[in-house]
Amino acid sequence: MSIKTSYKEALNNKIFEVISQASQELNVESYVIGGFVRDLILNRDFKKDIDIVAVGSGIELALKVSQLLPKKPKVQVFKTYGTAMLRFEDTEIEFVGARKESYHFESRNPVVENGSLEDDQNRRDFTINALALSLNEKNFGELSDPFNGLEDLKNKIIRTPLDPDITFSDDPLRMLRGIRFANQLGFEIEEHSLNSITKNAERIKIISGERIVDELNKILSTDKPSIGFLLLFKTGLLDIILPELTALNQVEEIEGHTHKNNFYHTLEVVDNICPNTDDVWLRWAALLHDIGKAPTKRFNKKQGWTFHGHEFLGGKMAKKIFERLHMPLNQKMKFVQKMVMMSSRPIVLSQDTVTDSAVRRLVFDAGEDVENLMTLCEADITTKNPNKFKKYHSNFEIVRKKIVEVEERDHVRNFQPPITGEEIMEIFNLKPSKEIGMLKEAIKEAILEGEIPNEYQAAYDFMLKRATKIGLKINAC
Ligand code: ATP
Ligand code: MG
Repeated sequence: MSIKTSYKEALNNKIFEVISQASQELNVESYVIGGFVRDLILNRDFKKDIDIVAVGSGIELALKVSQLLPKKPKVQVFKTYGTAMLRFEDTEIEFVGARKESYHFESRNPVVENGSLEDDQNRRDFTINALALSLNEKNFGELSDPFNGLEDLKNKIIRTPLDPDITFSDDPLRMLRGIRFANQLGFEIEEHSLNSITKNAERIKIISGERIVDELNKILSTDKPSIGFLLLFKTGLLDIILPELTALNQVEEIEGHTHKNNFYHTLEVVDNICPNTDDVWLRWAALLHDIGKAPTKRFNKKQGWTFHGHEFLGGKMAKKIFERLHMPLNQKMKFVQKMVMMSSRPIVLSQDTVTDSAVRRLVFDAGEDVENLMTLCEADITTKNPNKFKKYHSNFEIVRKKIVEVEERDHVRNFQPPITGEEIMEIFNLKPSKEIGMLKEAIKEAILEGEIPNEYQAAYDFMLKRATKIGLKINAC
């Protein structure tokens, strides 16, 4: 990266010209700061948000900018925070007055006073996020870099601008942001900053679940989330945020039997799934798929180590995690829970001969999520034995083909009983009773077992036979 100090040409978005003009008219200084500048210098794909700091009122500057724009976009004002936002083309532009912050120990909400550009840069989380470019006429495009952020960008270093103990203790969310940036950008966290995260890890407890999850989602959205999760683990943050995961970090040996380290296995599974899905919820499922293994682990002489029922317990634990971290308790949670609960099903299939009825049951139980489940289970193959690896993968190929065949023939993915309960009541002149449930269940089982096709006539004939066995007669009238 060539080091230069003027980025005049790079600020070619028309909005910067307008902000510059507005600042001049109001006689305040303004700068573009933070992530936009960092990503501009890194030549990263431009994000959709731009942060502007005004040495004066950010709100007034935003209002003035809007006036000067042909479409006079609406300005959203957040009075309590002294910030304002407007949209220009597809970019969100956020304005804030330069400020100086001081913190109380119990809260990440600072006491704020007006300040200089330098004060504002001091309150930024990392040197690479404190870079500012002038939008003032006298030195438009000039870089302000009080903490050698440019050098850190060049050397791929995450470092706090001030004493890291102060930066992290003031706002512990920054510890997660630092790890997230290291993961996203492929940077190293500088030694003092990293040690300070370990030292201040406990402080993460004052951060809300929502904010923690925002960062975890960003880590999970990278190409290789294990990098972020290993940093969270090494600094002690993971133990506080997701102790269910760190509980998997064990290998025990009894009478020569060991089991794999399910923590490192889990991270491998998460990395494996990334090339095959961008769905952060499926990635969450990969992260949580084995959490039931720590509490269900047992040893017996006959079978060695077992984890009976870990999928079911894991599903319940996943829900608790969602509740604890204030994650959405909606379909997304249900999806993750279902994936965890079903996470061993295709694996079992792929180890054995693959029968049609087993595949039909899998499709029936997984419904619309069957492809996602397959993606999860393929990522779960982390065996280092090349023969087993090949065998499992080729069996999965067979399972995938069979899923398509079985679905074309039997349509069990969104199974609707070919004969409804109402029809059964009518045919046998019955009131609601347990016989109806039994017949419906028997028809469904026969379809899933492949005894009959999923068709009305076949189901009808089958039902009559069954009904005779339990002494039911067709309605004569
Ligand atoms: P991205 O948008 O990719 O998440 P970003 O650096 O732009 O990265 P934002 O959350 O958009 O992050 O914040 C914009 C800027 O505000 C940051 O670059 C940083 O200077 C500052 N900032 C954000 N959050 C904090 C924080 N918790 N502590 C200190 N500074 C922060
Ligand atoms: Mg940003």
